[in-house]
Amino acid sequence: MGAMAKCNLKVNSPNVNYSDDYIHVNYSYSTTKVQKQGDVLNVEPVTTSLSIRTKRTVPKLGVMLVGWGGNNGSTITAALEANRRKIEWRTRTGTQQANWYGSITQAGTVLLGSDDDGKDVFVPMNGLIPMVNPDDIVVDGWDISKLNIGEAMKRAEVLDVGVQDQVYKQLSNMKPRPSIYDPDFIAANQFDRADNLVEGSKYEQYTQIRQDIRDFKEQSGVDTVIVLWTANTERFCDVKPGLNYTRSELEKSLKENKTEISPSTIFAMASIAEKCTYINGSPQNTFVPGLIELAEYHGVHIAGDDFKSGQTKLKSVLVDFLVGAGIKPVSIISYNHLGNNDGKNLSAPQQFRSKEISKSNVVDDMVESNRILYKEDEHPDHVVVIKYAPYVGDSKRAMDEYTSQIMMGGHNTLVIHNTCEDSLLASPLILDLVILAELCTRIKIKNDDKPDSDYESFRSVLSILSYLCKAPLVPEGTPVVNSLFRQRTAIENILRSCIGLPPTSHMALEQRFN
Ligand code: NAD
Repeated sequence: MGAMAKCNLKVNSPNVNYSDDYIHVNYSYSTTKVQKQGDVLNVEPVTTSLSIRTKRTVPKLGVMLVGWGGNNGSTITAALEANRRKIEWRTRTGTQQANWYGSITQAGTVLLGSDDDGKDVFVPMNGLIPMVNPDDIVVDGWDISKLNIGEAMKRAEVLDVGVQDQVYKQLSNMKPRPSIYDPDFIAANQFDRADNLVEGSKYEQYTQIRQDIRDFKEQSGVDTVIVLWTANTERFCDVKPGLNYTRSELEKSLKENKTEISPSTIFAMASIAEKCTYINGSPQNTFVPGLIELAEYHGVHIAGDDFKSGQTKLKSVLVDFLVGAGIKPVSIISYNHLGNNDGKNLSAPQQFRSKEISKSNVVDDMVESNRILYKEDEHPDHVVVIKYAPYVGDSKRAMDEYTSQIMMGGHNTLVIHNTCEDSLLASPLILDLVILAELCTRIKIKNDDKPDSDYESFRSVLSILSYLCKAPLVPEGTPVVNSLFRQRTAIENILRSCIGLPPTSHMALEQRFN
């Protein structure tokens, strides 16, 4: 069994009760209901009584990465090892220590409240509620390339040699399991890499991946496994009735070895069958409708799509700021060039198309939030270009031009040059994704206003992880939120609710009135 995570915070409230196993909270959840009647908006504040229960014991977590030998896979593995051992290394500018900068759970803080002097008190996000400690995570995974993870880390050319040299020995003992290679789904230029393959029909491959998950669980002694795709971007697969619209169609198509069942969908199906949360860090449409139904049927969580690491993260901040300020972005033009293997794969048209789609909708919710600036169906021009330029390696360049209309026909143009060390931005997101996804399996909510209601888990599609995803997957019928501030606030306030604290409102009335 796992350990009780370090969490020194104790909430003193009649609505909060700590048992050995759980934190129980009686929570008043306030929302605002709006109904449109002709030109009138009828608005009603609504309060619901909820019981929120969070399991305090964290499991021993195993993470299986699809694409383990890639830049992200090898970098997160090295970072886990380096942080676990608190490694230090010399650089030209001094001694550097391992850290988790870029991870909201490890390096982000949350405003808790204010002290007797009225000063704000912040705590690390992972101090709010028991979360898995990264030091205890065990990693395993698959790659179509058989290079061990030590060599894969060298091939990636991401980390300083000072770190590489200190973790190489441990990482070189880690060997990716053979994986599902379908040249129809990733770029032809990846062919040379594919020397570690699971043979057989799609159903046999699926069975093998399930077996791998069970083997890993047994060998490592972990309690829970999360599977995360950080392999190459695939092209989109077809989505159509008869093929993958429903759970039964999908299962039938797998057995019939239908060509449009992608490797990533096979991984997701295997993961769900083993009751393991599955996260998609790439843009492709792994989560076809039948797959979502499958996850719901088995009560397993899924989340994605595509890590929101650099350019898009900034976009979801900047456009939010502009539109929120009443300024009208009319043209957003983004150029990228990168020289890593991801860039090489994306230089093929179909794989680029997956990325283009995933990057294209990121301002929609912000545009739709302001009908003073934008008419129905009006959108800013939004163009995304990605080019492969080997020399810059993992150090991706993102250049964005935002042109906005300001008062009285004036214009404002912002030009941003963003050098994003790709895998050093993506790896902390991988950590946050698995830590928060694990936490989500320990939180259960009951609606006390409904007779006979029982504790329920989050819905299968974990939209709470949208903060970390470029093209957030949300449960059917719920709105997609891209705004980074809204996404982060949702995480903070849901975590606060688990310990019986009201949402942070920033009203600070006690400071503004006598
Ligand atoms: P990478 O090319 O270095 O690594 C991908 C790895 O996947 C390679 O080792 C490759 O051999 C392996 N692979 C390919 N197909 C496979 C399969 N079917 N099964 C198992 N392994 C397979 O790429 P990366 O830079 O690590 O990025 C990984 C993914 O994350 C890409 O799809 C990328 O678009 C996505 N992503 C990255 C970032 C970022 O790094 N900042 C941001 C958003 C999304």
